Amino acid sequence: MHFYGTAAQNALGHLTVGGVDVVDLAREYGTPLYIMDEALIRRNCRAYVESFRQHYPNFDVAYASKAFLCTAMAALAEQEGLSLDVVSGGEIATTRQAGFPMERTYFHGNNKSPEEIRLAMEVGVGRFVVDSTRELHLLENMAAERGRTVRILLRVTPGVEAHTHEYISTGQLDSKFGIPIAGGLALEAAREALRLSHVELTGFHCHIGSQIFDLEGYRIAVQRMLDLAAAVRAETGFTASELSMGGGLGVRYVEGDRPVPPEELVACLSAAVRGGAPERGLPLPKLIIEPGRSIVAEAGTTLYTVGTIKEIPGVRTYLAVDGGMGDNIRPALYHAEYECAVANKLGSERTRRVTVVGRYCESGDVLLTDVPVAADVAPGDLLAVFATGAYNYSMASHYNRFPTPAVVFVSDGRADLVVRRESFAEMAANDLLPERLRAGAPR
Ligand SMILES: *Cc1c(COP(=O)(O)O)cnc(C)c1O
Repeated sequence: MHFYGTAAQNALGHLTVGGVDVVDLAREYGTPLYIMDEALIRRNCRAYVESFRQHYPNFDVAYASKAFLCTAMAALAEQEGLSLDVVSGGEIATTRQAGFPMERTYFHGNNKSPEEIRLAMEVGVGRFVVDSTRELHLLENMAAERGRTVRILLRVTPGVEAHTHEYISTGQLDSKFGIPIAGGLALEAAREALRLSHVELTGFHCHIGSQIFDLEGYRIAVQRMLDLAAAVRAETGFTASELSMGGGLGVRYVEGDRPVPPEELVACLSAAVRGGAPERGLPLPKLIIEPGRSIVAEAGTTLYTVGTIKEIPGVRTYLAVDGGMGDNIRPALYHAEYECAVANKLGSERTRRVTVVGRYCESGDVLLTDVPVAADVAPGDLLAVFATGAYNYSMASHYNRFPTPAVVFVSDGRADLVVRRESFAEMAANDLLPERLRAGAPR
């Protein structure tokens, strides 16, 4: 099996992460439990920042908090010198609660509500990443009312769609996000932004996909973004001082995934901009990237307790755990694949094949299909599912009224709870019982 980050096997044949035996974690915090390898998160942050220092003069690494956010994560990103992408009032509130410097945030979203925009203006987010001309005018009006100016990036679609192993180059990208460069729409939006007096355009943003293993899509996107910047300059005289190339770098989920190291993405983008900007007579913009998954995915392990093992002779064996689609929706949502191991029996031969299912009332509540596990797996064992740090906790639901699991950061032999396990009472805390529905009320 593959060990991520600080994960290892101890003398008892148990999985350890951050030097902590996960059997102890299960005893202390219960299961399901999200375990985050703090050293690996920090290593990933530093890989981006340090390679930028080597390759490019003026940069910003903004962690896409939608991948995994709690106050501890925002604080860690702050310590590592990262900025943050936020996409909702809730992410803004959490970031703020962590004491994160709000001028280092980028507020994204294709349909920001007036309430969220108001909150973002009050707390002073650094940039609004504007997704439409409607938003442009909403911002202008709301900023004018407050006698302020807000800084913005325009989110555009460069017509490059990158997937895991290939990219697709389209004239007009069919997406709910961003303003197409094609047809002059982005140029027109930039013109519009420059006419407004309470909105200050600083540059352009794009995000070409996710779980990307091939840098070619990024290279092409840089060329198209610089072409746009040059066209806007020629038409309006405005020089973009910021260029954000989004996130999307892939990670290893299963055997055969060959992710590109962050250093190579940074080197690739830096070279493309350093070469392409002067060719068009443009000064080097501040280069911004927004990694999410590649910062946290491999750092996460979800720990479950094994329950019912149901063998259907000649068909398959279902191994049920005490979590499932409520804490990891990705397999059900888009057939995401993971690897697992019986965390208290790493020394056993992995010769039993099982399909790991959750305890939710959906036949589609399958976490892993036909995977090898310890031959002697039994109810009460612990099952670790690896690389669950991104888009797991942040996508958790209350389906079947299962509370959201706890999150623990482990590092250097110690564990710190960073999100308490939700209680049943907390889950029902906002429920209200009208008088007429109370026990004993007249019918
Ligand atoms: C989701 C998203 C990211 C992060 O994507 P990853 O694939 O997690 O790196 C960055 N920027 C924007 C605008 C996004 O929507």
